[in-house]
Amino acid sequence: MALNDLLAFESLKFDFNASKLFSFKTGGRVKGYFETSSLKELRDFIELLEENCLKYKIIGNGSNILLSDNGFDGYLISLKRLSSITQISDLEVKVGAGVLLNSLISYLTNHSLSGLEELVNIPATIGGALYMNAGAFNREISNNLTCVEILKKGKIIKLDPFDCAFFYRKSNFSKDEVIISANFIFKKEQKETILSKQNDIIKLRIATQPKGRTCGSVFKNLKNIHVAKLIDEAGLKGYKIGGAIVSNKHANFIIAEDGCTSYDIFELILHIKKKIFEKYKINLVEEIEYLGEF
Ligand SMILES: Cc1cc2nc3c(=O)[nH]c(=O)nc-3n(C[C@H](O)[C@H](O)[C@H](O)COP(=O)(O)OP(=O)(O)OC[C@H]3O[C@@H](n4cnc5c(N)ncnc54)[C@H](O)[C@@H]3O)c2cc1C
Repeated sequence: MALNDLLAFESLKFDFNASKLFSFKTGGRVKGYFETSSLKELRDFIELLEENCLKYKIIGNGSNILLSDNGFDGYLISLKRLSSITQISDLEVKVGAGVLLNSLISYLTNHSLSGLEELVNIPATIGGALYMNAGAFNREISNNLTCVEILKKGKIIKLDPFDCAFFYRKSNFSKDEVIISANFIFKKEQKETILSKQNDIIKLRIATQPKGRTCGSVFKNLKNIHVAKLIDEAGLKGYKIGGAIVSNKHANFIIAEDGCTSYDIFELILHIKKKIFEKYKINLVEEIEYLGEF
């Protein structure tokens, strides 16, 4: 019954090889992959999955998720088609959850609006950035937020930033809350000043972070302690398991080389955690999220 109903969703692809959706470009197949620009279709699809107790996971740009080599026994829902940016007033902008952070930053620059420059080149969607409360250089996406719209149990609900309990790389959105859009407020600034700030940040990123297939920082930093420094001091830069290697440039980054599997990355994460615990008695906590069984 459920499968027949699912056939009505034209963009749904069954038994989908999902590795290409994630920054590490590893992992296996999922039951289905669905994307839509229609809120009604999104609501109907989720309702059908929930009624039939079928698992699902919302994905943004897949830049913070490690998908199991055995895949995920559920449906991936991408919101990348919710990609509108609407000016609400001189300083306030409403942004669809699927808009890439860099696209929003370009839009803001063209409209001489400042506020998110520090987040340039984080390869996130607005939905994913809010869920993770993405941040860099003392700025977090939640700093400029005025309200969030979510879809929950078939209803669209407006939330105040205060309701979302934003902390360091953390929010309290639950599994059944789908971020569909967000409003942000910015300040007017000269275009040249905005661009110059962005360029400084881009240069800093290039100088300190590796290229390649990564998910950014693997572990959350600790209060006043940079995890990269601990991993470096433990002699783990360049340490390799299968096709997964600890970056020589930034020790909190793992790079997936050719032939790398998600399990290689997972084993390397466990190895780093073990070594850091042995040396410092510190339990590192992953910033990246696992999807599927490990
Ligand atoms: C090269 C590189 C550099 C990075 N640098 C930084 C950095 O400086 N700072 C930083 O904070 N992070 C950084 N990251 C990590 C990553 O980009 C962020 O965590 C980002 O917020 C993830 O966004 P995403 O759209 O890719 O989300 P995904 O990885 O697709 O999803 C992350 C989580 O958000 C949930 N989610 C996504 N969209 C929605 C939605 N619409 N509604 C509800 N839940 C949703 C997913 O279910 C999942 O739980 C970096 C990653 C890379 C690859």
